[in-house]
Amino acid sequence: MIPRVGARLSYGLHPVLAANPLYRRFGAWLERRQRVYRWFTRAERVAKERLYGCRMCGQCALPDTGYTCPMTCPKQLRNGPCGGVAASGRCEVHPDLVCVWVTAIERAQGAGHGADLGLLQRPVDHRAWDSSSWVNYWQGRDDGLGVAPSADDPRPLLRRELGLSPR
Ligand code: SF4
Repeated sequence: MIPRVGARLSYGLHPVLAANPLYRRFGAWLERRQRVYRWFTRAERVAKERLYGCRMCGQCALPDTGYTCPMTCPKQLRNGPCGGVAASGRCEVHPDLVCVWVTAIERAQGAGHGADLGLLQRPVDHRAWDSSSWVNYWQGRDDGLGVAPSADDPRPLLRRELGLSPR
């Protein structure tokens, strides 16, 4: 789906949710109280489903993909488009839709984050489905989710710009 929030605004809001010791403690507190955790996760689902078409994979790649959910690709590809994308940019599975990765590239480049798409995304851990990606991120479980192919600076580019620790 085409995200309902502009890429620039999404990048601009990222620091609000960026991992820090306070959020880490809050996430740990939530996980000790499963009922509250479920409410929190439900709220995350409602917000991200509406805004980005989130499928709740629990390991969010949005900051590295122009805030375009790669799990909305019918093949759930996390490292760029398949070979079937049409020259027009249409999806081969759903020709009425623009390829998720075309949207991702346009949004990332338009916001000055095109280089983020050069990050390598690790395979999806299916055990994390339906868990809170925010809590997982705060708890450091996304460390190395998207890594730069160069060993010079292994931090994802957005995080480097924000001055954040590697996740
Ligand atoms: S948590 Fe997963 S499914 Fe949800 S927006 Fe992020 S990448 Fe997409």
